[in-house]
Amino acid sequence: MNKNIFLSIIIGGGLGFLLAHKVPLSKEKISMKCDTQEYKNVNSVSLACSVFPKTSQEIIERSGNAQKKALECINELIALSPEKYTQVTVLQRFDQLKAAIGSELSVLGLVKSVYQDQETLDVAEKQFVLLNQFIIEHIDSNKHLYEVFKAYQADAAQRENLSADDRYFLNKILENFELQGLNLPAEKQEQVLALKKQCAQLESEFHRLIDQDATTIKVSEKALAGISEDFKKTLQRDEDLYVLPMNYPVQAMVMNYCSVEETRKQYSKAFSNKAYPQNESILQDIIKIRDEFSKLLGYESFAAYDLKTQMIKTSERAWNFENDLQKKALIAAEKDFKQLVTDLPAGVSLTKEGKLEPWNYGYVSTYFKKKYYSIDEETFAEYFPMEKTIAGLISIYEQFFSLTIETISITGMWHSDLRLLQVKNKADGTLFGYIFLDMFPRDKKYGHAAAFEAVLATKKDDGTRTPGVVTLVCNFTKPTTDKPSLLKYSEVTTFFHEFGHAIHVMLGATKYYALSGFNTEIDFVELPSQMLENWMENKEVLTMISSHYQTGKSLPEELIEKRLELLKFGQGLFVASQLTLGMVSLQLFGPTYSESLADTYKRFAELNNKYISYDADTHRYCSFGHLTGYGPKYYGYLWSLVLAEDVFEQIQKEGLLNPEAGKKYVDAILSHGGSKDANDMLRDYLGREPRFDAFYKKMGLE
Ligand SMILES: [Zn+2]
Repeated sequence: MNKNIFLSIIIGGGLGFLLAHKVPLSKEKISMKCDTQEYKNVNSVSLACSVFPKTSQEIIERSGNAQKKALECINELIALSPEKYTQVTVLQRFDQLKAAIGSELSVLGLVKSVYQDQETLDVAEKQFVLLNQFIIEHIDSNKHLYEVFKAYQADAAQRENLSADDRYFLNKILENFELQGLNLPAEKQEQVLALKKQCAQLESEFHRLIDQDATTIKVSEKALAGISEDFKKTLQRDEDLYVLPMNYPVQAMVMNYCSVEETRKQYSKAFSNKAYPQNESILQDIIKIRDEFSKLLGYESFAAYDLKTQMIKTSERAWNFENDLQKKALIAAEKDFKQLVTDLPAGVSLTKEGKLEPWNYGYVSTYFKKKYYSIDEETFAEYFPMEKTIAGLISIYEQFFSLTIETISITGMWHSDLRLLQVKNKADGTLFGYIFLDMFPRDKKYGHAAAFEAVLATKKDDGTRTPGVVTLVCNFTKPTTDKPSLLKYSEVTTFFHEFGHAIHVMLGATKYYALSGFNTEIDFVELPSQMLENWMENKEVLTMISSHYQTGKSLPEELIEKRLELLKFGQGLFVASQLTLGMVSLQLFGPTYSESLADTYKRFAELNNKYISYDADTHRYCSFGHLTGYGPKYYGYLWSLVLAEDVFEQIQKEGLLNPEAGKKYVDAILSHGGSKDANDMLRDYLGREPRFDAFYKKMGLE
């Protein structure tokens, strides 16, 4: 329970994908001006740090150079005579040129989300949109490139001894060109291209308005009754008032601990209105444009277009999945709710419909956990000082995945909080990559938790690798003058989750950059991360990573037992809240219908969160960032969670700290990145079709 309502995500730079002549294959070595030869090889700490630009001037220069270089490579590829088409000259070069520009785009995606200086943020935003539009126009929607690949597939590729990976990549490239409408008449293609470019700009603006929303509320000392003195010290003051920004640690503190209902109510309304009203019309435009280009491409809706390349394949299957789960979740949610409101804290009562106001839910949950499970999240957090918790998590991941992870001190990055981890293979010291950690909230910083790829790892057929670079952006509880950062249980779980994405980048090195790491189906991508959250439900692991910030003692067994017991509670309410978001996103990108955004959100919230009254003054869809990146695919969180439990059940039998179990999982799943159909990876690992049983059992939804 009490999970952040929008689950943490991964952010990629929007790597898109992407074909004809007949002639014999040439064995001669072809020299090309645009001979990138190698993928970006970030093999030292200084190179890892230099992935991120230092000034706005550097951003402009790098973006300009990336476009110039890409154009040269594209033109060369198009001009290549068909007798010279091979896996190296066509597939590999295309991948390399996309990698070079895709990596710049990913880096800018991070810069615009975490850098401090407003001028740099504005420049990064502008260049991000320009670069994205360049990729859409010159690569993804390039008819001449499409012709090259079609010709290659029809002829040379048939005679060449291509591996399964090569063929998978080639098919993906062609599929993606077709998803951009390149098999349509020229006039329609132009329309699709114009709409896609327009949409990319709106999506970026949608995110900018969320990240840079500077809403605060100001309250008196008295209005913060129930909040610890320590926490108050971390807040800014405006004369005798406290300033409450809209970030997760402050939200958790106010909603769970403040005994003044009016403060909770005011904060809840402000938090749920981030980026409102500006994002209302932007979101409407995004929905309309996506619908328009999907129809031009012959699809009933954007959801039908977008889900075609996912594990689930169709909107109908996605709706069925959500509806089936809903039946079970609502039964469990009713049980949870009855238990939760048996006894309410002083000052809180149910509405006349017997529901809880949204601003009372966290407060009531906190009271309930304390009273029935003796768990106070603040006290529990005392066992998870950030430094030791990170060290503990690292040692677990080192053991399970057979890695050596070293903390490296760095300076001169975008913020002094930043830290760096270097990840190597334990057996032979091979460098797998670098993980940057940006852990605390700041003004203008991306407010959620996410893994931002910067450079993806590659692995050639001969086994040589280029390392990956990824940044984990979180918003955890800050240290105070006399206490270190003490992580809440939910924050530690989020950290395990995001680290799971980072490990996917480190270990998912594939031959092709475009298929590496977490470039998988989106409804699969949250499997590795959500599965690793389970480690936080294991006695031995909790003992290993906990260490009281004053005494150094591990969590007492009794508290661990209470936590494990508590985890069984509230699953119905949690799944129901996720169903709301999944259904809202499927509906918004489904076939056109006449209902306002606010009414759609309200309808699904009332259908799923039956026990929490809906606050009609709020507009959560305006800050629902996944509506652009994941679009209709938010269901993928629950879908991959269901599958993750199936995989986890197997691993659990073999041992959460067992390197053999880790190796088996990495070999069958992680190491393939996105170079294989996710359904096949799961079948290979499980030795059978995936099942839902483990999830239902764990969630008490049987
Ligand atoms: Zn995630």
